[in-house]
Amino acid sequence: MLTDIEIAQAATPEKITVIAERAGVPEKYLEQYGNYKAKVDYNLLTDEAHTPGKLVLVTAINPTPAGEGKTTTTVGLADAMRRIGKNTLVALREPSLGPVFGIKGGAAGGGYAQVVPMEDINLHFTGDFHAIGAANNLLAAMVDNHIHQGNALGFDVRRITWKRVVDMNDRQLRHIVCGMGGKASGVPREDGFDITVASEIMAIFCLATSISDLKERLARIVVGYTRADEPITAGQLNAQGAMCALLKDALKPNLVQTLEGTPAFIHGGPFANIAHGCNSIIATRMAMALGDYAITEAGFGADLGAEKFLDIKCRLANLKPDAVVVVATVRALKNHGGVPKAELNEENLGALEAGLPNLLQHVENITTVYKLPCVVAINAFPTDTKAELDLVEAKCKELGVNVALSEVWAKGGEGGEELAREVVRLCENGDDEGRSAKTFEFAYGDEGGIAEKIEAVAKKVYRADGVDFTPAAKKQIKHLESMGFGEFPVCMAKTQYSFSDDQTLLGAPRGFRITVREVKVSAGAGFVVALTGNIMTMPGLPKHPAAENIDVDETGKITGLF
Ligand code: ADP
Ligand code: MG
Repeated sequence: MLTDIEIAQAATPEKITVIAERAGVPEKYLEQYGNYKAKVDYNLLTDEAHTPGKLVLVTAINPTPAGEGKTTTTVGLADAMRRIGKNTLVALREPSLGPVFGIKGGAAGGGYAQVVPMEDINLHFTGDFHAIGAANNLLAAMVDNHIHQGNALGFDVRRITWKRVVDMNDRQLRHIVCGMGGKASGVPREDGFDITVASEIMAIFCLATSISDLKERLARIVVGYTRADEPITAGQLNAQGAMCALLKDALKPNLVQTLEGTPAFIHGGPFANIAHGCNSIIATRMAMALGDYAITEAGFGADLGAEKFLDIKCRLANLKPDAVVVVATVRALKNHGGVPKAELNEENLGALEAGLPNLLQHVENITTVYKLPCVVAINAFPTDTKAELDLVEAKCKELGVNVALSEVWAKGGEGGEELAREVVRLCENGDDEGRSAKTFEFAYGDEGGIAEKIEAVAKKVYRADGVDFTPAAKKQIKHLESMGFGEFPVCMAKTQYSFSDDQTLLGAPRGFRITVREVKVSAGAGFVVALTGNIMTMPGLPKHPAAENIDVDETGKITGLF
């Protein structure tokens, strides 16, 4: 069997000018980065008349060590849609170098459903993340310089919330002491680095709808507090203009192609825990502007990824999805049914059935909480047996759940035609119960306090009995509401492995409560983050990082990326 990178390198991609023409991008908006990558000027969205196409969200059951294949399904579905004659584009997140060199590997799909050039996409690509890191670190430098120059704004140096970032898994930088070396070298203080994708700039970048919106959001960033508990913003440091200048080219969506020549935008990539976990609004809008169908992915499982896509991104961008695809695999369902990772290759119909409630709860959330049409995509693995695939399909049908087998990993678009036809049907006619983009509802409204919104998500989506707020969290909520942030949507930071905040509770747990330990504002992004556990904003590398297997030969050919 060929690896992902071997399949990707064996392909003969078309010139990006051909792909741009296929996508309908007028030449004057195309900025080429070599032969196979380009940026598309966002002015296309305002200067050219267009009717937005249908929007399809791809999400999944709770992730397991078995891997689910959301990106693979997103890419393969788009290729399948093109095969059945539909003008379709893809919108995905950009991979971060941290996971590429850590455990997860790249994020450009897999098998015969990939975006190329996968090496570039997984490594520096068009430099967007470096620009985001630079903008973030400029602001950090301006904060410390302000303090060094006399601290006119009155920063409490123990309460600076703005950290520096680097796009690498580097636990060594999690907690540092900086400003050492005497009077000429700054003011000593405790600090720490986050990974670039966890930066608020990344979230802002992905939620911004224009340059002026980007600038306003950057100005609203809270970088620290005074001793009197007053927030200090990037705007008070006059940093927003220069930060925006660093980001202006990055803000143009990157155009590449799938292995079958479907145009794909890959743009922005915020963490799905402390941020909202989906590609930029500008890229989604551009995919919708150019295609009759835009297929996009949200990170983690539907309890986190789809919830934030729907409650945060769709709310802020005024988007209404037309259909939702929930990806499940036999292997992951067996894991939810109690089978450890090492035994997932063996047929186990009992465990498979025992794991189904996890899938069913996600489907029910999409159809009854968000009132959207939904189809389950069973992402077929080579290890699945026919009896297992038949069982999932039969059980879903028995319970009235729409389901389609997806073999895009092995066969490319050809393996996704059944799924594509069902997605088209849902987009055009809604589902049999009358659900469509028109019936879409959020899990909570704009009004009501921060605690009520957190409770709505916990009870409706996670099915928790309730939420416990620590005394610190209660105090923070009061403080944030007094600052006027009560109207913001909430961004839940929770383990991705369970509906609950305990990662060992697999399946569809009941009789649990959620504990909120900390609540903080991302004022520029426009949401309040509720942390339910220790959320890692600077990951570390594993004992044997993926980096150990990556190499490049004399001709410049890269090996070992996956
Ligand atoms: P996600 O987007 O959910 O994180 P990806 O689509 O990136 O998942 O897939 C994760 C990994 O699993 C990739 O290396 C991919 O090649 C592999 N994979 C996905 N689907 C399949 C499949 N059907 N059979 C075998 N491997 C798969
Ligand atoms: Mg993915």
